Amino acid sequence: MKHLVMVIEDEEALALLLKYNLEKEGYDVAIESRGNKAIAEVEKNHPSVILLDWMLPELSGVEICKLIRSKPDIKTIPIIMLTAKGEEEDKIKGLGAGADDYVTKPFSIPELLARVKSQLRRAPEPHTEKELVFEDIRMDLVEKKVFRGDNYIHLGPTEFRLLKMLLETPGKVFSREYLLKNVWGDNIYVESRTVDVHIRRLRKSLNDFGPDYIRTVRATGYAIDANPAAEEDNVSAEA
Ligand code: CA
Repeated sequence: MKHLVMVIEDEEALALLLKYNLEKEGYDVAIESRGNKAIAEVEKNHPSVILLDWMLPELSGVEICKLIRSKPDIKTIPIIMLTAKGEEEDKIKGLGAGADDYVTKPFSIPELLARVKSQLRRAPEPHTEKELVFEDIRMDLVEKKVFRGDNYIHLGPTEFRLLKMLLETPGKVFSREYLLKNVWGDNIYVESRTVDVHIRRLRKSLNDFGPDYIRTVRATGYAIDANPAAEEDNVSAEA
């Protein structure tokens, strides 16, 4: 089955250039130029990846990104923001709105294709594992939902992918560099400190309903472990 890439871009020439190249790469491509219709189409067709322009009529790319991230059935779809702005502040705004990656125009087509591929690699493969379980934490990979006991845990897309990585190999210590590469992707625009920020959010969400199973290994990284406090001081390592 072909992956569907949705291009949300109002510059027709660029949208068509992207469509041509993505189709050549073997993807199905849908183009949308306006926010409200684009979101409706995302909900209807569940694309594998979204390429999202920053400046659009109707709704801005950031607004669209936030709306997608607020809708449970489409919130984990990877989003690559396309923008003419290279300002640090805008980059942070885009990532803060929930974008997974960020490309500044003008970009090269091979670079963009590599980023699309990288997002697809990280998207969960359908019909493999259906759930990951560790103690009372259960991740439903089909519904993309996390539960602790009977409690539904709301996680952002990055926290979801972080937890997934930890749950795939309980006890294994993942370095910040490894997590950055595999949760955020090869094109790193984030500092390793960002990992700590998202781990903190993940902990906060999970720990409302049970003990802290995330182990901080100082100067190294993180693991999921039933007895996390045994070796390390989690509290001070988080400061
Ligand atoms: Ca535009």
